Amino acid sequence: MKTSIYNYFINLYRIKRDGIIGSYYKILRSLNSTTPSLLNLDNINKILVLAPHPDDDAVGCGGTLIRLTEKGCYGETVFFTNGRKNITDERNEIAEIRRSEALRGSKKIGIKNSHFLNYCDSRLKQDNNVVDFVLSCLNDLKPDMVFTPFFIDNHPDHTKTAKILALAANQYNGDFLCCCYELWSTLTPNYIVDTTSFMEKKIAAIKIHESQTKETDLVDLAKGLNRYRAIASGQPIQYAEAFFVASKKDFIKMSKSL
Ligand SMILES: [Zn+2]
Repeated sequence: MKTSIYNYFINLYRIKRDGIIGSYYKILRSLNSTTPSLLNLDNINKILVLAPHPDDDAVGCGGTLIRLTEKGCYGETVFFTNGRKNITDERNEIAEIRRSEALRGSKKIGIKNSHFLNYCDSRLKQDNNVVDFVLSCLNDLKPDMVFTPFFIDNHPDHTKTAKILALAANQYNGDFLCCCYELWSTLTPNYIVDTTSFMEKKIAAIKIHESQTKETDLVDLAKGLNRYRAIASGQPIQYAEAFFVASKKDFIKMSKSL
């Protein structure tokens, strides 16, 4: 075994013992199973979607969002970054392109209102301004469910988004379910959603993000992952999106173990 891989597992064990992975598995164990169940969306009427980048909603949870909005659920999305690399990046056109793609993508998904925070790519800050903004969205919308990337994800903007939600949730008096979606890392899901009937529309929503799909085949990425999730679920379905769903209380508890 290579030393780096060995150290990786040793560190994973240490984190698992007392950190976020511990909280994660404790919550999974309390559910008595690590086999994901089908997520019941019947009582979900208002959703808030947190998308660190303008294509994350479509790629990570687009099928589930379409399923919800098609049944009449009202949704709003917060887009945190705008595609510019830093504040001296003069490519203002990329921010405009990504904003336009985000708006058209949201329309395809059925989201009624979008918010743009305009942080630079990979430079999302976990500051009071952004936490207060998410808190104001929670207070205004009072969502039943909030979609966010997970704490463990291979992109700093994604992990920061989850932490920002936890900080805002800690100050919010209402309650909601946190629905963590997969992006640049897979997660151990406790729920899946059958997205078979919504895959065509999800792919159309991803293709709207042309500035990104020409660099990375996001359609194949989503199709492969969603097909795997369907087969692994043992359910007779073609495509599924997988989530780690936690109560607001458990989500905050996990963030504190970081
Ligand atoms: Zn992203």
